[in-house]
Amino acid sequence: MRTEQTYVQLDTRLSSAVEPTPVLDPQWIAFNDELAEQLQIPSTQRDTSEGLLIYSGNTTPEWAQPHALAYAGHQFANYVPQLGDGRAVLLTEVVDKNGQRYDIQLKGSGRTPYSRGGDGRSPLGPVLREYLVSEAMHRLNVPTTRALAAVASGEMVKRESIEPGAILTRVAKSHLRVGTAQYVLALQERKLSKAFADYVIQRHYPACASAEQPYLALLTHVRDNQAKLIAQWMSLGFIHGVMNTDNMTLSGETIDYGPCAFIEAYDPQQVFSSIDRRGRYMYQNQPPIGMWNIARFAETLLPLLELDEQQAITQASEVVHGFEQVYQQQYHARMSAKLGLAPEHPQAEQLLEDYLQLMQFHQVDFTLGFRYLCDEDDKRIGSLFQQSPTWQKWYQQWQDAHKDLNTAKQKMAQVNPIYIPRNHLVQEVITAAVKDGDLKPFNALHRVLKNPFKEHEEYARYSQPAARNEQITRTFCGT
Ligand code: AMP
Ligand code: MG
Repeated sequence: MRTEQTYVQLDTRLSSAVEPTPVLDPQWIAFNDELAEQLQIPSTQRDTSEGLLIYSGNTTPEWAQPHALAYAGHQFANYVPQLGDGRAVLLTEVVDKNGQRYDIQLKGSGRTPYSRGGDGRSPLGPVLREYLVSEAMHRLNVPTTRALAAVASGEMVKRESIEPGAILTRVAKSHLRVGTAQYVLALQERKLSKAFADYVIQRHYPACASAEQPYLALLTHVRDNQAKLIAQWMSLGFIHGVMNTDNMTLSGETIDYGPCAFIEAYDPQQVFSSIDRRGRYMYQNQPPIGMWNIARFAETLLPLLELDEQQAITQASEVVHGFEQVYQQQYHARMSAKLGLAPEHPQAEQLLEDYLQLMQFHQVDFTLGFRYLCDEDDKRIGSLFQQSPTWQKWYQQWQDAHKDLNTAKQKMAQVNPIYIPRNHLVQEVITAAVKDGDLKPFNALHRVLKNPFKEHEEYARYSQPAARNEQITRTFCGT
């Protein structure tokens, strides 16, 4: 295992050394052996008694120097100058088998200097949710933080009710966020801003170092990765739920699975999060919010652009506004592929627009509405639309747009999943674990989500949207 801390050595103001707080009675929930293999974690420190002590925070292995990282951020458009890891610690950075650097972080590991009023802990429910959904996103080919381990703490935490606590071990290409860059900017020291931006370049976008304007190049790369990421979310019906600048990574990985949820009946204005009262982060707002967040990142780079102030603003704004075009191109490519069409197909745009309208009108499940198009016959897809005449017309047009429909369907089945972590399924898992200490539903759902593109008859119930009485209409951060 190649471990080495680089970020915490950059500047003492950007993190604080802090040990995890031991817990009473740690018990295994889950361990990700495949990821452990990739990170070359010694076999004695996996789902073993030694591993249990490490991933509960009860012992600090010799390779870890735990630090909580500082960051700021715009939360629902309000700037908060001091956030930071209030219930998490970075254990170490590790370089994997392929030379890729990752952070290993404990989440729910106790109070830190950034905890403000919080207890530094995490209830079991959100840990299970993050484990399942982040791993599902990975299998759906979406860049995301991963889950290495989940451990029950044997202690209770107080939220709206008293709940069992747990600790998640999260793995990320880094935990640097737009909010981290904002925190650095607020320290008002050009030298530090430059050191931070150079660090991000070196760690995530090394090619920018030799660009004519390295910091504009950095802005462009972060913009492109975020635009691409959000296009992927949109193509899966994923709603992140809390796209604050502190929840937006500079690497372009999805981070923070608090109130996230997937759309079932297609509705572009869908909101799940209980705290998103005005719908700032509703499904269809995700792309413009992505651009808004990139504008906040651009502000942190302005002092580094070697241009006069007006020129710097003009050039940075151009890059920021380019978000829309990159996003549109990415979104269009992905959505066309969901219909089995090349993006340049003359009818791709119209067919897609009409289809989304039809799905909305008939309240068709977003995931099945694309997946059942891959079927050999039209039985399942037709029934979703009650074989309505407008649908039949669209279906005919769509078929006519293809030269080789069978080949197209095979490709479509590789981008249109049959299984996603549906909100009610995740909730069912959480309820069983929290109420009865039963992890069987968790393990079963986890198994299904490992292969989201391959349909199995015995998994039928996992493919179906919630019945009316199972529907989840509100989600909570659970912090
Ligand atoms: P989140 O909603 O997870 O993005 O968290 C927003 C901020 O609140 C971050 O600075 C977290 O570290 C902090 N936070 C959330 N929950 C807790 C907690 N239970 N104890 C301390 N800090 C917390
Ligand atoms: Mg967060």
